[in-house]
Amino acid sequence: MTYFDQATETLPRDRLAALQLAKLQAMMAELWGRNRFYTNKWQAAGVAPDGIRSLADLARLPMTKKSELMDDQAANGPFGTNLTYPIEQYVRLHQTSGTTGVPLKVLDTADSWDWWGRCWAHVLAGSGVTASDRVFLAFAFGPFIGFWAALEGARKLGAVMIPGGGRDSAQRLELMRDTGANVLCCTPTYALRLAEVAREIGFDMSSLAMKSTVHAGEPGANIPATKHRIEGAWSAKCFDHAGASEIGAHSFECEVQPGGTHVIESEFIVEVIDRETLEAVAPGQRGELVITNLGRWGFPLVRYRTGDLVQTNLAPCDCGRSFLRFEGGILGRADDMVTVRGVNVFPAGVENIIRKFTEVDEFRIRVTRVRHMDEMDIEVELCDGADAGVVHSIAEKLDSMLAFRPRVHHVGRNVLPRFEMKAKRFHVNREL
Ligand SMILES: [Zn+2]
Repeated sequence: MTYFDQATETLPRDRLAALQLAKLQAMMAELWGRNRFYTNKWQAAGVAPDGIRSLADLARLPMTKKSELMDDQAANGPFGTNLTYPIEQYVRLHQTSGTTGVPLKVLDTADSWDWWGRCWAHVLAGSGVTASDRVFLAFAFGPFIGFWAALEGARKLGAVMIPGGGRDSAQRLELMRDTGANVLCCTPTYALRLAEVAREIGFDMSSLAMKSTVHAGEPGANIPATKHRIEGAWSAKCFDHAGASEIGAHSFECEVQPGGTHVIESEFIVEVIDRETLEAVAPGQRGELVITNLGRWGFPLVRYRTGDLVQTNLAPCDCGRSFLRFEGGILGRADDMVTVRGVNVFPAGVENIIRKFTEVDEFRIRVTRVRHMDEMDIEVELCDGADAGVVHSIAEKLDSMLAFRPRVHHVGRNVLPRFEMKAKRFHVNREL
């Protein structure tokens, strides 16, 4: 078993909690009076750092929503007030991918950036990466934080990092072969896209030395049918990981792959809440992930509402880590749930059914509201030579699994968009 920091990762849970509390208290003391955003928030809530004496006291602190960070940056441009130090101390500026509107800028000091690297070292070591590996990053290296921090993580492990920016898919495949890359980091969507390109250009995937693929940026590696498909295409073990520009890289799948991702609890505190009452749900129940990062003091987040749905599991893992797990990884975005004919559906649930059909290369889901009723249309693009009759089988399968029958349409080759980073396959139009 490979670890980044075995002593911390296997701490008994009471000592892990003590470590979290000590880090939280130290961070709050540092932020108090320096970080305007949190000092104002905590003063308004009538809580000071010395009022936090146990992890249970965390619930006394107000939560943070993304809209507050956006509003703050709009009002106090360009960087907002969630900066603990003078701007001279910052060394990195990234921004969110902006899939849901104006991008949020996130800044890191040298220490905060080092913390990102530590978190990514946990992620990569979790998947078995060591100093003897060559890690290929199929990523454009733009302002999106994406896999930038993975570079730092690999450096800490001593692995060779091969940046794959400024290349098209075919060139990336060649570069992987030439360099003997044996670990691939990219979005799950792009792992499948690379395999599709390989098929189109006659590139022999078995000429690669790939042993594992590590995925971030969107769900997929936690959707069983998608994971299975990636593993088949790459003849490699596929690992899930989750994080976000504003929070950090917070969870990863270990080599045991117990059906979920471990949270790096030495660097994050996790709460799971009911979205209506905002109270903690019972252990093991599904709810919204609220997360506090403990080492990004330059741009901290305390009790941040992620909008992600998770379910925690404290059962011991055979990898030896005491870090809790998200059962099934991130289960979906709360905002992405749609109700079609009384059935609550998440895009990941639909994807898991569609991806089981090996004839499907790409798909798109459209939800339209007509006279207060949501309707679902699914467009599928089939591989060359596939029997178009499979479209009927997909509709049957969706009907039996979801208890309603979406309309499934067969579209021509290369009609649907392809993606190199986060895919946009799910569209909701409720304006009617
Ligand atoms: Zn494990």
